[in-house]
Amino acid sequence: MPRPFLKLKPGKEKPVLQRHPWIFSGALDKLSDEQNRDLDPGTIVDVLDHRGHRLAFGYYNHRSQIRCRLLHWYAGPGDVEFDTEFVFQRIDRAFKSRAELLRSSSGGSNSSTDSARLIHAEADLLPGLIVDKIGDFLVLQILTAGMARVRDLLVECLIRASQEHFGTGQTKGIYERSDEAVRKLEGLEQTTGVLWGQTPSESGVIARENGMEFIVDIARGHKTGFYFDQRDSRQAVRDWSAGADVLNTFSYTGGFSVAAAVGGARSVLSVDISESAVELCRDNMARNQACFVAGSHHESFAGDVFEVLRQLNQDGRQFDLVVLDPPKFAQSAAHVDRACRGYKDINRLAMKIIRPGGFLATFSCSGLISSDLFQKVVFSAALDARRHVQIIQNLSQALCHPVLFSFPEGRYLKGFLCRVLGPDN
Ligand code: SAH
Repeated sequence: MPRPFLKLKPGKEKPVLQRHPWIFSGALDKLSDEQNRDLDPGTIVDVLDHRGHRLAFGYYNHRSQIRCRLLHWYAGPGDVEFDTEFVFQRIDRAFKSRAELLRSSSGGSNSSTDSARLIHAEADLLPGLIVDKIGDFLVLQILTAGMARVRDLLVECLIRASQEHFGTGQTKGIYERSDEAVRKLEGLEQTTGVLWGQTPSESGVIARENGMEFIVDIARGHKTGFYFDQRDSRQAVRDWSAGADVLNTFSYTGGFSVAAAVGGARSVLSVDISESAVELCRDNMARNQACFVAGSHHESFAGDVFEVLRQLNQDGRQFDLVVLDPPKFAQSAAHVDRACRGYKDINRLAMKIIRPGGFLATFSCSGLISSDLFQKVVFSAALDARRHVQIIQNLSQALCHPVLFSFPEGRYLKGFLCRVLGPDN
């Protein structure tokens, strides 16, 4: 049966030819878009230029402003099927690169890392699909109707690829965490639960990262349970923590707290607004305690970082290293200004409690805020705090979150490791 097809408006083929994976409604020939409106969300369609030349195929969803996400760009006249083998090849390639990464020194020293993002959606040419390996479990997050339609096929391919790359019997279960709000834009309900194999233990699943161990609550944690995108930055913080008094804000389950303590911090104070995250942060600190320096002091409490930073300033507290890893402040373009004010506020307050020569590891995971804009915001915070601040290292999402040149939107996490010099007076 011939595939349904979508026609582009004249002049709208360039991004497709440049392999950008998204086609917005405005790029489509109106009639062609209307003719396809009743297709089941997620149906595979060919994409043609206005002259009728076949360029690519992808999956279509009339309910979404991103009408089509592309999966394959035609190189010649032959047909390419979207079948199990097609999906398996993509998953296999992504798994192979992460298995190499986990074996390499940058993935984890002495194979002491067993957890990472295995599939990073568009960047792995599998738009709308995220898969994380958390110890012996795979956690699947489906964000689009096109991927939801082939969920059973995905599970079959994930089992086969994990056997090939991580060993037979190594994967105990596959759990779905498709409960992101963006699914609404695709007309999808939220869904979570076991898709295959064992149920993750109530007491949590262990993720190993560079010799540290983290208890992950796959069923109830944020996103898929753990933030692997900060692996390389946790290492950077660990490298600068020896003898330091460290403040880890927006600490979640203590990723940076454990890294700082393992790096030899003298004290670590962790703050997050979520009580359950703070509890797990304490458990994670306890679990790794054997690797901390004797006599080091650790404290975690629940609080709003904006208020806590003000209070710490009032109390005259001082730290040698502060981590600022807030949630996404800019959810849409309309929120960018407000988000920048939020980033500036916490950065200014943090700089003021850093001892001269101390460090600030500051991040933004808002895709809508570029690295340049974030740099300007941190600069204006430094001006207000009256501190000279140096960028020591540009920080970014960990290697298991690659960025495709054709999809720069995939670079969402940016950060700076800064040295905060003495007051400017
Ligand atoms: N650094 C963490 C991830 C942080 S995610 C890691 O490496 O694992 C952002 C965290 O900020 C979440 O845990 C969320 O609960 C917390 N959060 C959001 N708003 C907050 C606020 N106003 N004050 C304190 N914590 C907040």
